[in-house]
Order: sequence, then C-alpha cells, then structure tokens
Amino acid sequence: VKIYVPRDSAALALGADETAAAIQSEAKKRNIAIELVRNSSRGLFWLEPLVEVSTQKGRVAYGPVQAEDVAGLFDVGFHNGGAHKLGLGLTEEIAYLKNQERLTFARMGITDPVSLEDYQAHQGYAGLRKALEIKPTDVVQQVLDSGLRGRGGAAFPAGIKWKTVAAAQADQKYVVCNADEGDSGTFSDRMTMEGDPYMLIEGMTIAAMATGATRGYIYVRSEYPHAIDNLNEAIARATKAGFLGDNVLGSGRAFHLEVRKGAGSYVCGEETAMLESIEGKRGIVRAKPPIPALQGLFGKPTVINNVITYASVPIILARGAAFYANYGMGRSKGTLPIQLAGNIKHGGLVEKAFGVTLRQLVFEYGGGTASGRPVKAIQVGGPLGAYVPEQHWDLPMDYEGWTAVGATVGHGGIVVHDDTSDMRKLARYAMEFCAIESCGKCTPCRIGSTRGVEVIDRLAEADRQGKPEVKAQQVKLLRDLCDTMVNGSLCAMGGMTPFPVLSALNHYPQDFGLSTPDKK
Ligand code: SF4
Repeated sequence: VKIYVPRDSAALALGADETAAAIQSEAKKRNIAIELVRNSSRGLFWLEPLVEVSTQKGRVAYGPVQAEDVAGLFDVGFHNGGAHKLGLGLTEEIAYLKNQERLTFARMGITDPVSLEDYQAHQGYAGLRKALEIKPTDVVQQVLDSGLRGRGGAAFPAGIKWKTVAAAQADQKYVVCNADEGDSGTFSDRMTMEGDPYMLIEGMTIAAMATGATRGYIYVRSEYPHAIDNLNEAIARATKAGFLGDNVLGSGRAFHLEVRKGAGSYVCGEETAMLESIEGKRGIVRAKPPIPALQGLFGKPTVINNVITYASVPIILARGAAFYANYGMGRSKGTLPIQLAGNIKHGGLVEKAFGVTLRQLVFEYGGGTASGRPVKAIQVGGPLGAYVPEQHWDLPMDYEGWTAVGATVGHGGIVVHDDTSDMRKLARYAMEFCAIESCGKCTPCRIGSTRGVEVIDRLAEADRQGKPEVKAQQVKLLRDLCDTMVNGSLCAMGGMTPFPVLSALNHYPQDFGLSTPDKK
C-alpha cells in the first residue's frame, strides 16, 4: 500500500513528520506492509497534513491528520480507502483542486519531489528534449509566442529578455533565477522549489540552451532551508544523470547550475541588487541602463527571471506556445499560480488562467475570512501592492486591466483583511517597511519613507486632538511625498511603497479620520 505524507515546510509546520512517524510505527505494530512516500503539499493548506492513500479508484485523501488520529485511521482500514470522519474522498475530486487549471503546478503533490524517475514519468524533461531538437532561435520564438511574462512582478515578456541575451556577443553568459520570494503572502516559488524542483531546473536549462549561457545561479532566500536542500539534491541528481553538466543530454552543450543563499534583505529581490549580492557585494540597486540582459552578472549578458517564469517554460516547449497562449486574456497569457493568505479560511495555492476575479478567488476558493467577519480589503502583489476595495473585486485579473484601476498583480500573492483592520495602521506599516528595507541609494525612498511614517503619525495625532486644519495639511503633505517617491525613486521599493498608502487613503478615508475622500 502506498501512503503519501507531504514533507514541504507548510506540511512540516503542521506536524507532517510526526504524522509520518506515527503511520510507520502503527503499520509495523499491525503488521501491515506500506510504502511511505514523502510527497509535497498539493496547496490545500488548511487540510495539512493531508495524507493520501493509493487505491484502485485513485488517490484518496484524509486531512488534516495529526499523529493522534493515525490509530483510528488504521482501525477503519484507511490504508485501503476506508471511511473516516477525516476522509475527503478522491483527492482529484476535491472542488478546490478540481476547479483549477494546473499547468505549471500539474505535478505538485503527486510526485516525490527529488525523484528524477517520478519527474520523467510525469512529463518531466519533455520540454528540454524538445528544445534540444530545434534551433535555439526557435526556442526563443516559442517563449515569445506563448506570451509568457515575468511572474515575479514586473510582467516583462520573458521571450524579449531571452532574445536580447541570445543576440549578445560575449565569452560568457549567465542564467539567473530570482528565488528571493520576499513578498508577504507569497509561497508559489517556495512550493515549486520544495515540491517540484526539477521543473525549475529544466526551465533554466532550456533558457541556457536558447541563449548560449553555460552557468546558472538560483538565488534563494535564507528563510527557505528546505527549498535549498531540495534544490541541491535535485541539482546533484540531475548532474549525475546528464541533465546538467558539460554535455547536457549528449547535446555537446554545457550548463552548470548552483544555488546561492541570500541573507535576508528584501531589496535583494530587485534584480540588480540580487546580482550585486551574488557577486559577493552588499545588495544595493544598480542604475539602469545598462540592462542586465547586456551587462548583468559579472558584467556579462544575463537572463534573469523568477522561479514561476522558468517553471512555466517546460510545458510551453513540451506542448507548444499556442497551447499555453490559449489560456488567459488580452496580453496576459497562460496561468498564474495565485497564493491565498492572510485572514482567509482556505489558504493555499490556486492556479488559474488570467481572467479569474478576486471575488472568485477569495470567496469561492478561499471561503471568505478565517475570522468569519466581512472582508474589508484585499492586498495583492506583496507589501508594495495596493489595497483593492470591493468595487474592483469583479474585475478579471489581467495586468493591463488591473493597472488601469491602480491594482497590481505582482507575484500573485493575495492577503485578505477583515473589517477589524485599521487601514491607517497598514499604510504606516508600508512606509515603515520601506524605511527598514530601503537600500539607501536614493533620497526619495531612504528619507521619504521615514518622513512618511512621521506624517502618518502626525495625521493620527491631529485626528485624536480634533484638529481638522492640521489633518488636511498632513494629508496634502503625504500626497506630495508619495508623488515624489513614485516619480523620483530608482527602483520599485520606493516607487511602489505609495501604492498601499494611497489606496488605503483613497478607498478607506474613514480610517484616517476623513469623512469623505479628500481633494487629491
Ligand atoms: Fe534603494 Fe529605495 Fe532607491 Fe530602490 S528606491 S534604489 S531600494 S533607496
């Protein structure tokens, strides 16, 4: 009997190791032969540890299973699919999972993450094999035709970056993966590295084959020790099996891949600060131009994408650009692994084609707030993303449509707040976060964020003391300051911090002691 217990950090945090140990010992005690597979989470976090059992009808799920539930499960014969109050039926039939469009996350939770055999048995490396059959320029064209845009937040077309690097003349080129997933409420990169690391490795190898790069680095945040372990293990196995190294799959082309660990700086998620960090320097943003595609790591042409962007590439090559571009809407092609977090009942990973709405995500999938109270605001796109008010919850998710109403898709992280949230405090938090994480290179961000905290504090004080003129003055000052930060900052850190601040001020004026929206 095959029994699956996830071993990614979300499941571990909820007691998966203890559950797995209890299953092993209970099976031994009862003389039941089992094969325990440590898979990864399917992304239904409120059900973790989610235990699955192979049956003739398919995999059957039970969850959340704690160690103390295990004896009772064996009593009802769960190892043969027996009925139990924790039973969830066939895993694939759970509505949260069934109603998704999992292209990138198709293998997530199904395979043993570091098993190359499992990976290949589930379409793994089909994309790379295809890429090696066609010309590098055709590989780039496939990525261009797929419409894939950077999933890290900037949404720049991946194929254009690849084309630029491919056309550059240099003795050395690099492929770098930004895995410094620092946005609040985001975990799709972590899930990929922990749950399906070969998919990232394959995507980066395809990028190398397409652009002529021979070395690659995955820059992972230090807070992700399990991801780092899995990547190192997967890279070692892939190298041994000839998928990486001096002669990738006998093509005569080389690609060597290494993991680099960050040191806890948010701004190192900005691509040029990340390059500085990989080079062993302090993570400070570089002015552009030159663009990294021409002068990137160690001054050489460099492809930089984030984890999900690379992870989306194997299926594009394997199934063709048109297959991928068929999903989505407008200029937002394909699917996005969206992460539901914050005050939400059913937090987890939902991969959907662009066009899905926030209302569907938060209510149909997420089940509303965990507190049971009404949803007040939804922040999308990390700590620098805008708070989206109810009037925009039915807007189909696409980059252009959302930008038009001041919302950001970013990395697809959604953080839900109920009606007890104080939007002024959240606006202050955004400025404070920027003050702490600013790299200090430019004045609007370095000084502006500190002044921003002070202005919001004075605004609150004026409200407490009932001084409307002072309040109006401070609101004006805050708007001026935000304007300077948006237009004068060197990178998105200072340039986007005003988004949560202004959206809070514009959509929730009552939390600032303003009865109606102030004059902008
Ligand atoms: Fe550094 Fe902030 Fe300027 Fe970006 S905006 S370069 S983080 S000081």
